[in-house]
Amino acid sequence: MTASPLFYQGGTDLPEVSHGQGITLWDTQGKDYLDGCAGAICCNLGHGRQDIRDAMLAQLDRVAFTYRTQFENAPALALGRALVELTGGVLQKVFFVSGGSEAVESALKLARQYVVATGQPQRRRFVSLRPSYHGSTLGALGVTGYHPLEAPFAELTHASLKVPGPDLYRHSDASDEAHIDRVLAETRAAMEAAGPETLIGVVLEPIGGASTGARLLGERYLKGMRTLCDELGCLLILDEVLTGVGRTGAWFAYQHYGVTPDLLATAKGLGAGYYPVGALLARDDIVAAVMESGGFQHGHTYAGNPLACATALAVIEAIRREDLLENARARGAELGAGLRALATRHPWVGDVRGLGLLWGVELVADPVTREPFPAAQQRFAQITALAREEGLLVYPRRTLDGVAGDHFLVTPPLTIGADEVALLLERLGRAMARFERSLEADDTL
Ligand code: PMP
Repeated sequence: MTASPLFYQGGTDLPEVSHGQGITLWDTQGKDYLDGCAGAICCNLGHGRQDIRDAMLAQLDRVAFTYRTQFENAPALALGRALVELTGGVLQKVFFVSGGSEAVESALKLARQYVVATGQPQRRRFVSLRPSYHGSTLGALGVTGYHPLEAPFAELTHASLKVPGPDLYRHSDASDEAHIDRVLAETRAAMEAAGPETLIGVVLEPIGGASTGARLLGERYLKGMRTLCDELGCLLILDEVLTGVGRTGAWFAYQHYGVTPDLLATAKGLGAGYYPVGALLARDDIVAAVMESGGFQHGHTYAGNPLACATALAVIEAIRREDLLENARARGAELGAGLRALATRHPWVGDVRGLGLLWGVELVADPVTREPFPAAQQRFAQITALAREEGLLVYPRRTLDGVAGDHFLVTPPLTIGADEVALLLERLGRAMARFERSLEADDTL
């Protein structure tokens, strides 16, 4: 066989996929894998959906692509209206893109144009958390708080002011509330020291995704950040690329917390793996100010094309028809309880946290001190490989910034059934038992 022309990080000796159906994928050798992480936390409806296929084919039969400066297209209009409705009208304007980084990038650029349009050109910097992940394009990378990704491009990005978020697993404050209040006070101090009049806005994931292993920030923190933004004249920009479109059991994660954003980026689950599509949602007065000042100086060729929008509309329709938000809550509760039960058997499971069908499992070398495993041991990769051998896909990470160490995400499609949750936990349980045996056999510990 000739060498592969493809290059990206993370994939060597991978099985070749054959096909998928429901929450299961098969490789060309006939082995089945339960998709416990919905691909890259995007295949929210599972695989092989006839309804999505039919909607896509129907649109393909009409027209796949038209350019937004030449034609209105009905799927784009309908999808825009549907997204506004999902926010309950809190955000009234929509700008389409093809993925998460583009959605975040668009939010940053719209926010910058807004402050210029409203006579505040000295606001030229964002605030974001460390650790965090907001995308890999240079703008989104500037607000990302993850050193290995940032380092090669430090001279090219416009780095945000990075502040720590709350860590409800490891703090040493008297209570969670005291911890959050301290983090908020320190964030305020950092923003005041930087000069609030120079800041455009704060970029946050309402629940941490891959960068933190589903770290929950909580209502007290998010409300505190909303207040802080209002007091300092900053926009609150929520990155719901991963958490949006039902993942946490609400259409958007912010809806759990009674906090409203000014701008919101979403992607992944919007196309549910069937087509790349993302969106920036914005308050209409922000958009109006920018449009009056000469228009939004931004856009991508594939933005809002009919096929993308017809796919996303069919995805939203399926979530509604099958009441998948309720399924995400119900199955999520079962999954969380099952993960916690597994954790009680294994002392190296430091923390299990999540909401809906977004769950993170953090691994620690010492459950008392909560010390992470040494990075060189690559524990996240070992447990993921064992899970794969047992026929289960999970989403692994190691965070080097801040304190979260090895973790993996369990984020199955929102369509998962109760029996499938049980099967997922069974396979994960076997992988965890094997991981424990390998730890015992490992004299590096
Ligand atoms: N923001 C968050 C929170 C994400 O999880 C991701 C993708 N993992 C992105 C942005 C970037 O999205 P994409 O990979 O589609 O560009």
